[in-house]
Amino acid sequence: MAKSVEIKDGICYMCTMTCPMKIHVSDGKVVKVETADPKVSHCPRWKAQMDFIYHPVRLLYPLKRTGKRGSGNWQRIPWDEALDTVADGLQSVKDKYGPESVVFWIAYTKEPRPYFHRLTHAFGSPNYCTESSNCFSGTWIAANLTYGAEYSYMAGTGSGIDPETRCKLIWGAAVISSPPAWQVNLEAKEKGVKLVVVDPRRTTIAAKADIHLQLRPGTDGALALGMMNVIIGENLHDKDFTEKWTVGFNDLKKLVKEYTPERVEKITRVPAAKIREAALLYARNKPAKLHMSSNSTTHHANGVQNHRAVILLAALTGNIGVPGGNTLGPISNAKTNDITLHERVAKMPPGVGSKRFPIWTKRYREMQSNAIADQIESGQPYPIKALFSPGLDIQFFANSRRIVKDLNKLDFIAVTEYFHTPGTQVSDIVLPIASWLERHILLTEYFGNVKLIQPAVSPPGECRTEWDIYSGLAKRLGFGDLFWNGSFEKCVDHILEPMKITFKDLESKPEGIKLALQPRPEKHYEKTGFKTASGKVEIASSVLAEHGLDPLPSYKEPPESPLSQPELAKKYPLVMTSGARVMAYTHSQFRNIPRLRKMMPDPLVDINPYDANQRAIKTGDTVTVSSTRGSIKMKANITDTILPGVVSLPHHWPNEANVNELVDDTTLDPISGFIPCKSQLCQVVKHRN
Ligand code: SF4
Repeated sequence: MAKSVEIKDGICYMCTMTCPMKIHVSDGKVVKVETADPKVSHCPRWKAQMDFIYHPVRLLYPLKRTGKRGSGNWQRIPWDEALDTVADGLQSVKDKYGPESVVFWIAYTKEPRPYFHRLTHAFGSPNYCTESSNCFSGTWIAANLTYGAEYSYMAGTGSGIDPETRCKLIWGAAVISSPPAWQVNLEAKEKGVKLVVVDPRRTTIAAKADIHLQLRPGTDGALALGMMNVIIGENLHDKDFTEKWTVGFNDLKKLVKEYTPERVEKITRVPAAKIREAALLYARNKPAKLHMSSNSTTHHANGVQNHRAVILLAALTGNIGVPGGNTLGPISNAKTNDITLHERVAKMPPGVGSKRFPIWTKRYREMQSNAIADQIESGQPYPIKALFSPGLDIQFFANSRRIVKDLNKLDFIAVTEYFHTPGTQVSDIVLPIASWLERHILLTEYFGNVKLIQPAVSPPGECRTEWDIYSGLAKRLGFGDLFWNGSFEKCVDHILEPMKITFKDLESKPEGIKLALQPRPEKHYEKTGFKTASGKVEIASSVLAEHGLDPLPSYKEPPESPLSQPELAKKYPLVMTSGARVMAYTHSQFRNIPRLRKMMPDPLVDINPYDANQRAIKTGDTVTVSSTRGSIKMKANITDTILPGVVSLPHHWPNEANVNELVDDTTLDPISGFIPCKSQLCQVVKHRN
């Protein structure tokens, strides 16, 4: 008799878009996954979810390292022993050095982060760190400083096309390999929308654009100032908006005078005539929508200021808060309890990176991961001696070989993981975790709903949920009460209490409970102002001024570039950008899934035919890419979609092809602490054994 199949609501968590899925379950196993959203049907990753959860080498049992770190020798141990060992490892460092000497660092998946954040603070450490230290939060800080708290997620306001939109300025977003919803931009031209694309690569969307501004990586700020020079010079700025709703416009006017298109051409390599044409197209076709990438403008030593210059184009042209422009979404009644125990941090010693990057650490309320290596090495202002890390991603760190050396100095490291990775290789204990199809997932704002995704199946082997692991540790560390003595239901009740919704309510309504959404009035700021200190858009940022930084969105040449370091550029003449998104992978994940690996079997460096010819490199050749930090191996992909003198490398490839081994970890953005992984000098040569 055929076995019965139950179809359950679920989500895909192969990236953070959490797209809705239908999960077919029979006999306690997932037998089929279907997308519940036709917009994502082309995404290859959701189709690989079963390959992921039933992967033959998925970690199923807690492991204890038996050989030296990096030896790859492991012994299976029971959960009680594993959790006791982790609790003892963390507690002994706490007893000897203080709780702040333990760093809590989390990467994917993102949804258990509030519980992990609480664990960090309950333990007594200020050092809650995440991969946000290099992710979209650079744009968050730039928007927060410029437009105020409500606009912190401004990067999300530009992705679609409204019926009113007459022009789209897409800045550094590839669209095809980005979130599925962004693909609507491919139809821009058919919809009569003018399209300007800024990107060092001629991407699919750039090839369709009316104007493609192909800039040298890292010069976005100069290009934005050059466009402002044209807009203000032609009197096309929105006088009413800039007068009533901005601070610092006159200073900006003076600043942009220096950025004539001719001068900007010398900096960016974009022809002056094209800069003029693009600025006029954007300013004359209102309403216009500025579409930003989550990090292409901010992965530079001057990243936050670059991004501020870019987003100010929207204010300058009065495209804020108007239909068709950059508009905030509806106001929702979603309210939750913050479970982070953040109020305790004020009484703790300063967290990692908080002295050097006070703006980011205070406003984003995390410590800066890119400062961990310095503190391990210096022991100042106190030593770092242990790490507990869900999803420790070595490839995340610039100058990655340095962080491996430093992590190996720690007394104790424990990680949670699905598979062995370079991160497990430096660990003492590895805890296997349940996937998104095997655990509850609370989504407090999901397509207008509060939703509790039920586990479709039980975790395989002895995998446990992150919640079970953190609450199990909390109990052993003596603060189980702060984790509701292990009751996930009580934790969810606490989170949802301000909305008067309970775990049981959500359990009985798998479709979720609708949030009340109120449309935001056009030009909402006329009633509410902007949530900055001045109540206006701060072209001149009061926060930056308070911290002794340039309040204006000034441009600074990347510290490593042919212009700033001509001598170094003789040895390393190519400008390297990295991290363009690809469909097959999410950062460091999924290269072990054959159906995805087939799509991109090798790490490819995109190199212009001119540069390849000069080096006698042919497509498919193995090449060595080097910088002053080290060298890695990739395969050459010769393409005229990239400018001569520029190469593009994929990010987070493990081991021999880890691009961040080439990236400087000292010239960090002074506001965000981000690494300059999209503007570095390098050399590419044919690999010789
Ligand atoms: S975009 Fe693709 S990988 Fe990401 S959640 Fe949606 S279906 Fe999954």
